[in-house]
Amino acid sequence: MTEGVITMAYLVSGVFFVLSLGGLSKQETARKGNMYGILGMALAIAATFLSGEVENFKLLIPLMIGGALIGAVLAKRVEMTSMPELVAILHSFVGAAAVLVGLASFLDPSHADLSGTDQLIHDVEILLGVFIGGVTFTGSVIAFGKLRGSLSGKPLLLPGRHMINLGMLGASVWLGAQFVEQGHDQALISLLIVMGISFVLGVHLIVAIGGADMPVVVSMLNSYSGWAAAAAGFMLKNDLLIITGALVGSSGAILSYIMCKAMNRSLANVIFGGFGTGGGSASNISEIEGSITETTADEVAEELKEAKEVMIVPGYGMAVAQAQHVVKDITETLRANDVNVRFAIHPVAGRLPGHMNVLLAEANVPYDIVFEMDEINNDLPTVDVLLVVGANDIVNPSALEDSSSPIAGMPVIEAWNAKSVVALKRSMAAGYSGVENPLYFKENTNMLFGDAKDTLSAVFSKLS
Ligand code: NDP
Repeated sequence: MTEGVITMAYLVSGVFFVLSLGGLSKQETARKGNMYGILGMALAIAATFLSGEVENFKLLIPLMIGGALIGAVLAKRVEMTSMPELVAILHSFVGAAAVLVGLASFLDPSHADLSGTDQLIHDVEILLGVFIGGVTFTGSVIAFGKLRGSLSGKPLLLPGRHMINLGMLGASVWLGAQFVEQGHDQALISLLIVMGISFVLGVHLIVAIGGADMPVVVSMLNSYSGWAAAAAGFMLKNDLLIITGALVGSSGAILSYIMCKAMNRSLANVIFGGFGTGGGSASNISEIEGSITETTADEVAEELKEAKEVMIVPGYGMAVAQAQHVVKDITETLRANDVNVRFAIHPVAGRLPGHMNVLLAEANVPYDIVFEMDEINNDLPTVDVLLVVGANDIVNPSALEDSSSPIAGMPVIEAWNAKSVVALKRSMAAGYSGVENPLYFKENTNMLFGDAKDTLSAVFSKLS
């Protein structure tokens, strides 16, 4: 293929990726967005294969088939609740790839004849690729461990940690300057030390971040992996990799910003860690006034039969219980009886962005009754019965009422404003952030204890 055709194919792939991102931003168009992404990637791989720059097909094809098979099996097997872990470990692969591309590019003898500005640009590309890739690699492995529960979700805060980070950054910049000046063998040593520092920095940055901030961290690492890929694109002189890396890098950064807003946190505050240390006075059950009232599936079914306006707030527990299908059955039955049923979705409900939307879509809940938190909060006083299905932090009034709470200022679904609230969960255990929830002690809240799928199935059997 001529260079012009390859460039054209890359450009079309880039357009497919942009269309894909646009499609993925809405539930109704998400499938189409996914298809665009697949098409763009297929075209990109085909064009790269035919570009004449790829030679070692004997090694490449078996490796690609092996990788594709492992990826397909893992993606098929993974539970929705474990998706953030999968995403985190995939980011680590991108980081590791950028490091390896950087090292290979440095060792590649075909670059030996570079000089002057070309040499400088090439060296900076290698340094950036190795450094960002290294931070992404080890940071993502730590995020994977934290999300999986193999590592503690508590932040590990070393004394003077910001100075340590700054020191590592400063040392990398100094070594980078040496790398550019030194001869080949010396420069390799500097590059390897920068790589080592970036590995340690990745670990140190992420161990300092508490569990409640992991969603933002995964999205930040997504952004880092994009920049690492873009740096690899510069090294390999591959325009499409630069475009794709920049798309991933910037969309990850935008998502991190949106999530920070949803949690009322600043990005800097998240990146430099320390949230969830228990430093704030997390409200304690014994300090919360009032007592809880238990209810039964029969009573909830009766309440629902009487209601005209019902709202369902799903959370992580719905995913754990896999209760989305029975939620859909209840919704259908109520709607058939002229009850207006709506869903309220918090931007960080569950364990990954869009988690609840995916589960509801899987259960075929119609899109037009699913609303974002901001669209629905003002309507809550008109709601007769609000079902909190395995949600906790996202309906916690202490975010608005207790300025010393670790989640103070986080926008929440103001469930307590509904006329009657039923909270479905298995126990009085706290949510992800470890903060107790005064909602359960409010007069208009009743607790329906048990696995959400079991309790909702019992409710459904009394409804139909
Ligand atoms: P929470 O983790 O706050 O609460 C979930 C609740 O579900 C728990 O209190 C638990 O109580 C209950 N639960 C668990 N299993 C079941 C079950 N089988 N049946 C019924 N209930 C169950 O979830 P939310 O969705 O309210 O909030 C999300 C939290 O996760 C936020 O703090 C957010 O910052 C964080 N987060 C969000 C991510 C994202 O991208 N969306 C990613 C990572 C973290 P019990 O044990 O008593 O049953």
